[in-house]
Amino acid sequence: MIDTLRGLWYDAVQIAEGSSLGKTLARALPGKTLLLTAVLAIAGLAALATQPGSAEQRAKDLFGAKKLPALAAAQSIGFYSKGCFSGGVALPMDGRHWEVMRPSRNRRWGHPAMIALIEKLSRDAAADGWPGLLIGDISQPRGGPMLTGHASHQIGLDADIWLTPMPDRKLSAEERENISATLMVDEKTHLVKDGLWTPMHTRLLKRAASYPEVERILVNPGIKKKLCDTVKGDRSWLRKVRPFWGHDYHFHIRIGCQAGSPDCKAQEATAPGDGCDQALAWWFTEEPWRPNKNPDKPKARDLMTMANLPRQCQFVLDAPAPPSAEAVTYYGDGVPIAATAPALAAELAPQPTVAAGAAALPASANAFVAMPEIGIPLPRPRPGH
Ligand SMILES: [Zn+2]
Repeated sequence: MIDTLRGLWYDAVQIAEGSSLGKTLARALPGKTLLLTAVLAIAGLAALATQPGSAEQRAKDLFGAKKLPALAAAQSIGFYSKGCFSGGVALPMDGRHWEVMRPSRNRRWGHPAMIALIEKLSRDAAADGWPGLLIGDISQPRGGPMLTGHASHQIGLDADIWLTPMPDRKLSAEERENISATLMVDEKTHLVKDGLWTPMHTRLLKRAASYPEVERILVNPGIKKKLCDTVKGDRSWLRKVRPFWGHDYHFHIRIGCQAGSPDCKAQEATAPGDGCDQALAWWFTEEPWRPNKNPDKPKARDLMTMANLPRQCQFVLDAPAPPSAEAVTYYGDGVPIAATAPALAAELAPQPTVAAGAAALPASANAFVAMPEIGIPLPRPRPGH
């Protein structure tokens, strides 16, 4: 509870500091009580929320404030670490083989192909013996830079999945916010801690790598090394598994640009081979772990303005929202439930804001028809819930 309050306080202050109101207040009120500043910071936050987007405003504040996706055809715009997306759908909080963690962050949104892939992985992994997926961050409803955390996850094609298996019960809302994932890697040696890694973990990553649309899986270098040292037989899938900082309690799935997203910028192909060579050895030198010489330097996502993002992201930001999150929650069968509600679909058909951005998003945009037909069964609540 105190952490939550501290987090809210911190966010409010951070946002207010970025506004001219916040700066004025900071000058005018040196040494005044925290409480007073907090009230004023929240007032600044409210003022910010009512302003229309401008090129100078920080993109993370604008995208971070969006509660619902842009109602338009599913389209990823820009790059994984510099972009946004429209036509997002939500992963339900619970499925037969998954539970969404940290729901208060509202990051269970993605391109329909990403959400469908998570559902498919949850089923396939369960068939492989993994008890179910704990889902971490996917994207904000309209993507874009986040207020906290990730540099990527901006175009609806990235998802974090915990390396902790789902427990055999429904977690409470409080548990989802607070329980910790298992840290798999020793921070000093950068090696997987003894006894934590199991063949089931390997099988889960292999399954995730098996889908053609998955281009990369990011893991801690210690986890990559564990796979390099232990995977026998077919090692071709290791090519997709890339070492990266962090990713020691979760792995990160990245899928490629999807059809219908002409402005989605693909990433470079991974180098040939299993990646168990010098490229991995570098992670076990001192260089990647040197302390940051300039730790206070702001990160790219903290500085990005709308002017730094692809032009179409302004249309995504301004686009109308669906009536509710439930209306664009993905329940399988290739179609979100709203598609089965013709009255609703007809009501939402005209989209002048998006159409005004002509080249940005198709005028025929309809978030509910762009789903790939992949025959996913309806997830049912697990027995006993
Ligand atoms: Zn991630």
